[in-house]
Amino acid sequence: MSEYRNMTKEQLLAEKANLEKSYADFKAMGLKLNMARGKPGPHQMDLAMDLLKMEDYTASDGTDARNYGNLEGLEEARALFADVMGVQPQNVFVGGNSSLQLMYFLVSIGYTFGFQDSPCPWSQVEKPKFLCPVPGYDRHFRITQEFGIEMINIPMSPEGPDMDMIEKLVAEDASIKGIWCVPQYSNPDGYTYSDETVRRFASMKTAAPDFKIFWDEAYIVHHLTDEIIETPVLLEESRKYGNEDRVFMFTSTSKITFPGAGVSALACSDNSMKYVCKRFEVMIISYDKMNQLRHVRFLKNKQGVLAHMQKHRRRLAPCFDAVKTTFAQELTPCGDIAHWTNPKGGYFISLYVMPGCAKRVAQLCKDAGLVLTGAGAAFPYGRDPEDSHLRIAPTYPSLDEVEKASVLLTVCVRLAVVEKLLE
Ligand code: PLP
Repeated sequence: MSEYRNMTKEQLLAEKANLEKSYADFKAMGLKLNMARGKPGPHQMDLAMDLLKMEDYTASDGTDARNYGNLEGLEEARALFADVMGVQPQNVFVGGNSSLQLMYFLVSIGYTFGFQDSPCPWSQVEKPKFLCPVPGYDRHFRITQEFGIEMINIPMSPEGPDMDMIEKLVAEDASIKGIWCVPQYSNPDGYTYSDETVRRFASMKTAAPDFKIFWDEAYIVHHLTDEIIETPVLLEESRKYGNEDRVFMFTSTSKITFPGAGVSALACSDNSMKYVCKRFEVMIISYDKMNQLRHVRFLKNKQGVLAHMQKHRRRLAPCFDAVKTTFAQELTPCGDIAHWTNPKGGYFISLYVMPGCAKRVAQLCKDAGLVLTGAGAAFPYGRDPEDSHLRIAPTYPSLDEVEKASVLLTVCVRLAVVEKLLE
């Protein structure tokens, strides 16, 4: 096959006719496939069912986990998350079943009251802003959008977000109050920030005294290869520069045990911990410590978590491979019409198609029974300036479904590109 960009109009028309035939064949199958959300599949959740077999709810210090109390979490739960995140247990706050909810609460606290280092609540700043490395996690962006916080796109590279741009912006503009980051196996590119990027986040000067880094370690133990990639711990790095109050680190067991019934955690400085507890104690007496205890007894420590994640990897790695192999076989011969990331962990692959084609690809897929995350969803306000990015989530469907979906997706990419070239 010759490369699409070198084809004559006649060749493109012939290719279009071929692709339309393949596309019609897929449509006739009446498929119902979904690669939209990063959800674990049922087999992954089955791996953690033993967690529920527990009858004794007395914690190691004698606390009855069934009762009220311990707002910051059980000692052993704080120790487990401290081990996973690489921080001290006294800097860990254990929450409910969603780290996203902790993030929402913290933005809400910043907006309504400000933090201990805020000159005023963010709501009283004329135009409060957040930096958003793109593509990023759509639900992060929806939180800041909900509060009317203006979002500024920051380009990503395999080393992390553009630090030159970030350092310049935060040094000049005190209305920039925070940034969303997924430092390890980022959603959706699967990039891991370099050590230098982390160091620059820890040391940079900010015009806002209450600038906060929302450092979302959702995929901190979600390795897909033998390489255990780890980043320097932002909270500890920031301490070296006296900047630890700017850091909010998050993680959860959503993609370790159960997304609907896991445990989340926040790591922050001593000052922030005091302040956050003061605000949270008005809202809640204590989180679900029975679930904390079940998780500790099942996972034990970081080693236990990593061993459990090996079992996930066995199921997930073939699904990721299926997508990448299909892309290489079906798209590479067509020339530079698309490129994709090769994540070593996490839950997603980014597919970048010829600019102006992503929305059309998603629509073609949908009409043939394959649901993808909406084109543009990984950008603030749902707007991909290039209309090029698609987020592929190969974790939920079976391997057989992933294989079918990947082939259909490549047919849709090729068809959309041929249509574009014929315009
Ligand atoms: N953060 C990132 C980067 C995610 O990709 C997800 C889920 O896909 C979440 C947070 C949600 O986490 P939780 O279930 O702990 O709210």
